[in-house]
Amino acid sequence: MVVIRTAIPNKGRLADDAAALLRAIGLRVPSASDRKLLVNSGKGRYEVLFASPWDIPRYVAGGAADVGITGLDIVEETGNHVKRLLPLNFGACRLTLAAPEDSPLRAVDDVPDGASVATSFPNLVRSYFRRRGKEVRVVEVRGAAEVTPNVGAADLIADLVETGSTLRMNHLRAIDVVLESRAVLIAGADALGSKGQEIREFASAIGSVVEAESRRYLMANVPTAKLEEVRAFLPGISGPTIMNLIGRDDMVAMHVVVTEDAVNGIISLLKEAGATGILVMPIERMVV
Ligand code: AMP
Repeated sequence: MVVIRTAIPNKGRLADDAAALLRAIGLRVPSASDRKLLVNSGKGRYEVLFASPWDIPRYVAGGAADVGITGLDIVEETGNHVKRLLPLNFGACRLTLAAPEDSPLRAVDDVPDGASVATSFPNLVRSYFRRRGKEVRVVEVRGAAEVTPNVGAADLIADLVETGSTLRMNHLRAIDVVLESRAVLIAGADALGSKGQEIREFASAIGSVVEAESRRYLMANVPTAKLEEVRAFLPGISGPTIMNLIGRDDMVAMHVVVTEDAVNGIISLLKEAGATGILVMPIERMVV
């Protein structure tokens, strides 16, 4: 039997979502705090390796794991040779270049040669400035870069930002985005060769969960006379499904898949059109 070993973060921001994603495709994943770092998690077909998110690209490139979940920022920074199979819908953040609020720097063009930039992403930051023909001094830090301009350890920072509140708290202003990041599913070239079919199956299962997460299954009884009007605001994967209601010709049952953020608007429109029995349900998986 082919065993797929998946590396996921053992702690930090991506750990819980990565474990939840594997659970959603049926793997038994203990909580990372159980301290066992390599677990068998699905009738012998899967193993889960808990690792530092920074080590995951190297493990996957070298074959210690077949696939892995980590941040795109880390994949790009470490530069290991891995294939990106799928962007995932968590861990969204931006590697952001920021300067003190009271500095005259408002855009990357204002950054003078010789300026120092504190970051945990020295490779990405160097190539970002190289592409713009600028020579900066990269000050490599392991975290908490935001404090460095305030204590005179660097002129600017490049750090991961989600909402920008940490920047504001430290009196910093974002001046550019070096990289848009989110969690990604990666695979190693060797594994794709020898276990290609199993890895594609695994990625497709993950993909179906990711697709389903942002959608809802909506059902409603709609007046037959309003069907055309209702169809106009309902996309559906291939249009809504319409079914007869036994003993009624003034109403039909309608089923449709809609995006989560459209649900509230659609419910209002359906009510206006006289729909009744409106139900909204989660979808476990969606294969498109
Ligand atoms: P951490 O657990 O803080 O070491 O971060 C691990 C990964 O989580 C990062 O490399 C990013 O891919 C991702 N991440 C998502 N949002 C943020 C954020 N606001 N700050 C830092 N990392 C984030």
